[in-house]
Amino acid sequence: MAPSSIAILGGGLTGLSAAFHLSRRFPAAQITLLNKDIHFGGWVHSKRAKITLKDGRETSVLLEAGPRTLRPNSKSVLELINLLDLSPSLLTVPKSSPASRNRFLRLPGTQGLLRIPSSPLSLLTSGLSPKSSSLHSPLGYILLSAIAREPFRPWNRPLMIEDESVDEFLTRRFGSEFARIFGSALVHGIYAADSRELSVRAAFPSLWDAEERGRGSLIAGFLLPSGVSATAEVDDPPYQLGDVDEQMRGVSVYSFSQGIGALVDALLRELRTRRNVRLLGGVSATGLRMNPRTAQFEITTSSCETLRATHAVSAVPLPSLKGLLSPKTPLPHLTANPYSSVTVVNLVFLASPGHALHPVGFGYLVPRASSGHAENAILGCVFDSSSMSAQEAPRSAGIVKMTAMLREPVASIPRLVEMLSEQLGVRLPEPLIVRVHDNVHCIPLLRVGHLQRMRELSDVLQGEPWSGKLEVIGAGVGGVSVGDCVEAGRRAGRSWA
Ligand SMILES: Cc1cc2nc3c(=O)[nH]c(=O)nc-3n(C[C@H](O)[C@H](O)[C@H](O)COP(=O)(O)OP(=O)(O)OC[C@H]3O[C@@H](n4cnc5c(N)ncnc54)[C@H](O)[C@@H]3O)c2cc1C
Repeated sequence: MAPSSIAILGGGLTGLSAAFHLSRRFPAAQITLLNKDIHFGGWVHSKRAKITLKDGRETSVLLEAGPRTLRPNSKSVLELINLLDLSPSLLTVPKSSPASRNRFLRLPGTQGLLRIPSSPLSLLTSGLSPKSSSLHSPLGYILLSAIAREPFRPWNRPLMIEDESVDEFLTRRFGSEFARIFGSALVHGIYAADSRELSVRAAFPSLWDAEERGRGSLIAGFLLPSGVSATAEVDDPPYQLGDVDEQMRGVSVYSFSQGIGALVDALLRELRTRRNVRLLGGVSATGLRMNPRTAQFEITTSSCETLRATHAVSAVPLPSLKGLLSPKTPLPHLTANPYSSVTVVNLVFLASPGHALHPVGFGYLVPRASSGHAENAILGCVFDSSSMSAQEAPRSAGIVKMTAMLREPVASIPRLVEMLSEQLGVRLPEPLIVRVHDNVHCIPLLRVGHLQRMRELSDVLQGEPWSGKLEVIGAGVGGVSVGDCVEAGRRAGRSWA
């Protein structure tokens, strides 16, 4: 039976996307969204900071504490851009631009940054000698030898395994050095986590699928057509993309002139016009139960209200959901994954003319050292003023913005600036602006076996007392990228009609 009332717990991007799509699909249902924080959007925090320069000129910079760039592969976000009319504020970075092509690694124990070869040609020219002193090596050599050997390695996936860590997978196919350097750096950049714990099937399903398609060889698998996407459901309605798909041709990443917060603001603006939607900011759910007598959900709140709804969507972190349930009605696996914490430090400098503070490019990542974790607790650094330069206000010449990601809170800013200077091989001046954001337990680490656990959770939700009327979605379930979260919200309640 179609829902007459829906409660959505959590007003991050997942919950907001669910509210947007459910209110369109069920215009007769009353939808109430509860969000613990006054601020909607969860980890999305985009703010402009004013700068008064020495000569009295004023300008501003956009600072992101959470997500900063999106990839165009998520059609559900492109659909929101179209439906919320966000195209005019779209800022895109073409794949061909130096900001996209130049990505660096900082290898512990070496000097400065190493550029990751961005094309087969640069791989060939940079990978010929392990001892070459070019900016590309030794990465080119490691990449070239790993890629050249991979198709000749036998099918070496152990029999009967359903999943493994990213590190185990890459080690099997490309060798341990490749896995440690490239795999751990990638996982630091996306999950702020250890690639030895992250599930390859949950985090990078296309790698697992390509290995199967290529009968053991990942490279052969990528060269073969992939067929129907594993995630596309037959009854999914087509995406309403307008011409946004076209605008994304050849685009590497994108954002908006006022940052990712523009997506949250546009969703809120739209939801506030919907007569069937009530948004409650600063109100948390404190309990959730299904009343078997009335077959309704009862949600107690921090404002001492009891909200009743025929259907519910949980878009809060899984451990928070666990805290809402009575121990007598457990849902399995809500606490199986730990959450990583990451300290994000926005730094704004004024560079002297002709004195570059970093190479042109997207930024750099720090892989796990051969003896353990990342060097100096720095996971990586984004060169915002070259990767999203169009976000800066006019008169911002000479302003250099970068964002460091750390696995621990910062003890001292001068020490952090010194460490970044060492990694960049450039003496950084004293920053004009520093903003530190300690994002505690912000990214779920989808451990090996995650997909299987989520299938079990989903099966339990189909049975009593939930009867398929509670959807559990969000970064901790279906993937952490903004695209995954928006897509999960789009699919919420698909079986309710
Ligand atoms: C530092 C950082 C950088 C990132 N960078 C990128 C990036 O560049 N690109 C990208 O695609 N992704 C990025 N991500 C990932 C992405 O931003 C997140 O995975 C996504 O925003 C999570 O959305 P969510 O709605 O599932 O959860 P959350 O954002 O965690 O939202 C959950 C909401 O639930 C609310 N809540 C919690 N408990 C309760 C309760 N009891 N009752 C009511 N409400 C409650 C909270 O107030 C919060 O608003 C980044 C994440 C972080 C932390």
